Amino acid sequence: MSARRGLALAFAAGVWIVAIVLLWRTRVPSGLDVSGVDVHRYFSDAELRRSDRYGRVGLLLFLASQLTLVLVLAGYARWGARLTRESAAGRIGTGMMLGMLGLAFVWLAELPFTVLQLWWERRHGLLKVDYFSGIFGGWLALGGEFLSICLALVIVMGFAKWLGERWWLAGAPAFVGIALLFAFLNPYLLQTRPLHDPNLAAAALRFERAEGVPRTPVRVEEVRTFTSAPNAEATGLGVSRRVILWDTLTDGRFSPAEIRFVLAHEIGHLARDHIWKSVAWYALFAFPGAFLIARLTRRRGGMADPRAVPLSLFVLVVLSLLALPVQNAITRHLEAEADWMALQTTRDPAAGRKLFHRFTTTTLDEPNPSTFEYLLLENHPTIAQRIAMANVWEARQRRP
Ligand SMILES: [Zn+2]
Repeated sequence: MSARRGLALAFAAGVWIVAIVLLWRTRVPSGLDVSGVDVHRYFSDAELRRSDRYGRVGLLLFLASQLTLVLVLAGYARWGARLTRESAAGRIGTGMMLGMLGLAFVWLAELPFTVLQLWWERRHGLLKVDYFSGIFGGWLALGGEFLSICLALVIVMGFAKWLGERWWLAGAPAFVGIALLFAFLNPYLLQTRPLHDPNLAAAALRFERAEGVPRTPVRVEEVRTFTSAPNAEATGLGVSRRVILWDTLTDGRFSPAEIRFVLAHEIGHLARDHIWKSVAWYALFAFPGAFLIARLTRRRGGMADPRAVPLSLFVLVVLSLLALPVQNAITRHLEAEADWMALQTTRDPAAGRKLFHRFTTTTLDEPNPSTFEYLLLENHPTIAQRIAMANVWEARQRRP
């Protein structure tokens, strides 16, 4: 390695570490202990058994589908390049064709798990769509995946032709730019209606002012024909930012105090710039990720060569799987801050506890999953941790 290259690498690593330290900072007081909640105090044995069984099958399905995904793409990486021989679509056209073929193989291989997952969620009354729309109704999402793969390949293969193995230096910023654009546009892609409940709307206005993000629209998304699971999200950047409540949250099962807690949580995400921070975290993964793809596809001629496309899909999926526990830790960290903001704003830990309890009964979230599940699947703090945070917050108020 030349001295100049070493210096550049050290500088990049320094920027990366400083960014992580800055992004990791939250309003949650450090050293807050959210362990040690006895779930039996809050949940009946029947509730625990039900969510436990639901979660265990979910975990098995996830593991089996991920293993299948990796195996299918490993095979495709090994033999897929042979399919290019007859193609006369040009370099990037052939690459895109291989990308779409890879996606088609993955879709077919994942089909049994899609069906099993549908069956499992329908059986528990969480999903309300029939099998046909469950499998093919996602065509819009699938079309979106096709388009994103094509776009990604055009970017990567285009830059690789121009910059060789260093395409990642231009590719990673391009992907971050696209992520920013989608974060901005996302609210406009969802069909929503205004929030009709005047009391909730007034509470939202109050919370927005208290948390420092005034004039944030709150909208309702109608999902109840597809699912019974309650949810909400904070989305958008700058002028597009808004809070979206699912109509499964406002259908009468949740008390006004519980919905207010959700509102304060979502507004907390926006107040603490979590969408911006998520894009920043993505950037921290995009650079080393793109670099690794560039390095690991070298032996197939690099990304300028369409024959490297099947291998690149395999590398991307394996890297994403490896990054999953880290990504979950990051989102859990942001979610914990949003919970803290909700406690500070509503000053209603009892509503928080009831809300978290109801999450278990309505979505079958396990209150206290195994460490393995926690690392692999939990992108929110566990219900037990969230209840514990409400308890800790309350105890801190009583302290002189
Ligand atoms: Zn959240």
